[in-house]
This record gives sequence, structure tokens and C-alpha cells, in this order.
Amino acid sequence: KPLKLFTAGPVACFPEVLEAMKAQMFSHRSSEYRELHRDTTVRLADFLETKKSTVLLIPASGTGFMEASIRNAVTPGGKVLVTIIGAFGKRYHEVVESNGRKAVVLEKAPGEPVLPEELDDALKKNPDVEAVTITYNETSTGVLNPLPELAKVAKEHDKLVFVDAVSAMGAADIKVDEWGLDLVFASSQKAFGVPPGLAMAAISDAVFEKAKTIPNRGWYFDLLKYKKYLETQWSTPSTPPIPQIIGLNVVLRIIEKIGGKEAWLKMYSERAEKIRKGVLDLGLELFAKPGYYSPTITVVKTPPGIRGIEVYEAMRKRGFEIAKGYGPVKEYTFRIGHMGYITDEDIRELFDNLREVIEELKKK
Ligand code: PMP
Repeated sequence: KPLKLFTAGPVACFPEVLEAMKAQMFSHRSSEYRELHRDTTVRLADFLETKKSTVLLIPASGTGFMEASIRNAVTPGGKVLVTIIGAFGKRYHEVVESNGRKAVVLEKAPGEPVLPEELDDALKKNPDVEAVTITYNETSTGVLNPLPELAKVAKEHDKLVFVDAVSAMGAADIKVDEWGLDLVFASSQKAFGVPPGLAMAAISDAVFEKAKTIPNRGWYFDLLKYKKYLETQWSTPSTPPIPQIIGLNVVLRIIEKIGGKEAWLKMYSERAEKIRKGVLDLGLELFAKPGYYSPTITVVKTPPGIRGIEVYEAMRKRGFEIAKGYGPVKEYTFRIGHMGYITDEDIRELFDNLREVIEELKKK
């Protein structure tokens, strides 16, 4: 019997997606592919509310775009303001430095978001940064940053805004044009409920203009090359993950069928609320600061004396894969991911089992 997935990703995929992905392959230079790529891109741009940005689908996981943002749109040796609220903000920091750029760090304690006034302060002190990086949803702590407000501040300082929306896109609202996001990226294996292997992003003209001034952008993640292939043949320079793009296309059609973006995001926020209520009903505490709860992953503090890994392992024996604690807080937390294909029945079963597991562990 397959495990029921409440993971941080890869998550359980929608059955319609898995079914469609069985299709026989075709060339990524064929007219069939062009139509698939065009249609998926247009639908995703619509979902992200952008008419100005270019939507790219690339063969990579989300981290590919993290690296691409720095290599394409920050001058070698130039500075980036990296905001960190957990493990994935730390990854952005490493990506900046390992690519020979300099990071100025604004870091908050685990469980906290970045506040607009703190970002404003940091930008006043560091007027020479070229860009700001923001983790929209920090998967390690279950915190959703106040992205529209943070982006507004960064734009007031005239900085490029790079957003890691890997565990947010598809579940937390994103309005690319209105919020002024320059590069916002995600991965297929998260809130869209598609297998891993595809990364997607919306990228502003300002990023492409900046890229023209950057030498040594590399080949694989050269965003100008992607733009050219998109514009001339609705395709990618290297071979794309065609099944995943078929899968994403199916999900975007499901979204349309159930009533569009608003209905879809409502499904996610109601599901997240159910999960939080389930946790609180067991007498457990949430890790994230109230008001900044993630719509995709709930981080739970374990009761005194119980380690996160014990809960994870006991749940696995009962047929549930939750997510282990992650990053600096991993010892005394566990995480419940709520992305992808999850039914109300799955949630009921999860909590029935979690209640018993916590009771058993308290007695040990
Ligand atoms: N950023 C965040 C916020 C994530 O949750 C993850 C994956 N857990 C990543 C980046 C890395 O994504 P990928 O594995 O698709 O490169």
C-alpha cells in the first residue's frame, strides 16, 4: 500500500496528472510541443497575473532559477541583500556567494517573518545592493513572508526583487505585475502537484536588460537564451521535461475547471486551516508566528521529551509520510505538508493516527 503523503515535496500528484503523463513522447522541436509549451506558458502567466513578464519553463528543479537569478542579473562581485528566515534563505545566501557575488544578510529568528520596516532599514543602510532575495514561503519553519509589502519596499529603493516561491506558487497568491516581482520561481513538485523535474518562473524585462550587461552568464542557465528559444520556437535550448509540462498543463486546466485561481487558492487556504485546527485540537503548538502561517506546510512543536524524528517514524509505520523537521529547528519539530493531492478523508486519517502516536510517545 503506498504511503499517504503529507510531505514537503515531492508531493502526491493529482491522478489526472499521472494519467496524462503516460503519453508517448514527441520531439521538443515539433508542432505538438510548441503548442503544449505555448498553452502552458500562457495559462501560467494568467495564473500569476502577469502581462509584462516572460514565463519560462526550464528543465531544472527550483534551485536552477535561484542560481540563474544571480548569474544573470547581478554583476560579478556585486552585492545582493539576502533575507533569511530559515534554511532556504540560507541556500540563497550560499548561491550568491558561490557565484562570486557578495551577500548582505538580513536574518530573522526561526518562526519569524521579515517585516517591511526591517527591509526598509537594511536597504537604507545598504544602498549599493543590486537586488533583494525573499523566500516567500519558508518551508523549514512554515512561515509565509508578507511578500507584497516587502516587494513594495524593495521597489521604492529601486532594487530587483528575486522571490523563491518554490513552496508557495500555486497555493499562496502571486500577482507578478502588481507587486513588481522581477524574478519569481517555483518547482513542479510542490503546490501544483506534479512530479519533480520542471522549474518555472516569471521574469521581468528589467532582468533581461540587466543580463545583457553581465558577462559569463554560463550556458545552461542563460536566461537570454531561454527567452530567444521561447520567442522563436516556443521551446527551450536543451531538452525539456515534456511529461512534467503535460502534467502542469493538466493542473492549470483543473484550476480553470473548478472556477479559476480564486477557487483554487481558497481550497488551499481552507485545507491549511483544517490542518492547523487538527494540530491545535491535539494540544500541540504551531511553530510559526501567528499571522504568518504557511498555506502549504505546517511546522509543529513536539511535546516536551518527544523528538520530531520519533513522530515521523511512528507515522511512517502507520502508512503516513509526513516531513521531518528541517534546519536549525529540526530536533523538536515535525512538519505536515499539505500540497498536492490530499482528500478530507486523508486529513481525518492523518489526525486519528497522529493523536494515537503522540499519546503513545508521551507514555514511553
Ligand atoms: N526553496 C524552497 C522554499 C523550498 O522549499 C525548496 C525545496 N524544498 C527549494 C527552494 C529547493 O527546490 P528544488 O529542490 O526544487 O530545487
